[in-house]
Amino acid sequence: MTVVVKVGGDLVKDERALDNVLGDFKGVVSKDRAVLVHGGGDIVTEIATKLGKEQVFITSPEGFRSRYTDRETAEIYSMVMSGDINKKLVTHLQRLGVKAIGISGLDGGLLRAERKKRLVIIDERGRKRAIDGGYTGRIVSVESSILDMLMNSGYTPVVAPVALGDEYEILNVDGDRAAAHIAGALKATLVLLTDVEGVILDGRVLRLVKQHEVEGLLKKLGPGMITKVYAANEALSLGAPRVVISSGLKDHPITSALSGEVGTSFMAS
Ligand code: ADP
Ligand code: MG
Repeated sequence: MTVVVKVGGDLVKDERALDNVLGDFKGVVSKDRAVLVHGGGDIVTEIATKLGKEQVFITSPEGFRSRYTDRETAEIYSMVMSGDINKKLVTHLQRLGVKAIGISGLDGGLLRAERKKRLVIIDERGRKRAIDGGYTGRIVSVESSILDMLMNSGYTPVVAPVALGDEYEILNVDGDRAAAHIAGALKATLVLLTDVEGVILDGRVLRLVKQHEVEGLLKKLGPGMITKVYAANEALSLGAPRVVISSGLKDHPITSALSGEVGTSFMAS
């Protein structure tokens, strides 16, 4: 089996939470092939602000929230994601005895994306408006042979969600969506770890969502989770057998999600 695990920014920031997640990840690596994908948007925002580059967030009419990425922001994004955050994860894994190799979507053309020409947003007055797409990308291909090569040689890839555009520009891609495309390409089970126990509806964690139920579900979710559920559906459509959205803050977060004890599982039917 191959497993793709995505960790969110909050987990990267908290040393103890990270130790818990990566300790469990080490167990997965010892049995299965595994890829770690990370986010870290909050850290990008923090560092951009320190550099004097105020970050702007936009919301689509469907409720997806994202960073408005101009050229300077794309550079800061790539620097923080594939530098700071990726290397923290790699060093932490090495300390645990995992042969981790950090790689961004730019390296070897691992993640290729198409630049979004226009974005439709809801402005401050609640009106729909089209703006220039900036440097955000829609993933079009995954060079999964790079990941296969690393894993087959005993290395564990740690992927930063940055993609290579048509004109070789650096593009910001969402971490959940990057993980979904990678899981699809590898036909791997995807575990999206976050700071809540799964998809919560009317105060309860959903245990199982079938793919045909996703469209109706998306309308009921808030920012953050809507992206994850969209990504879960995308991963299934691309060939992942199963996706679990679960908490990274519990004991054995990955193995308990894989065994189905916790989290919200997504299956094709
Ligand atoms: P990550 O850093 O892991 O990507 P996000 O903050 O982007 O985390 O997404 C997780 C967040 O989604 C939760 O902390 C929660 O606030 C929010 N959310 C919105 N709607 C829901 C929902 N229906 N169920 C669970 N979480 C939800
Ligand atoms: Mg998120």
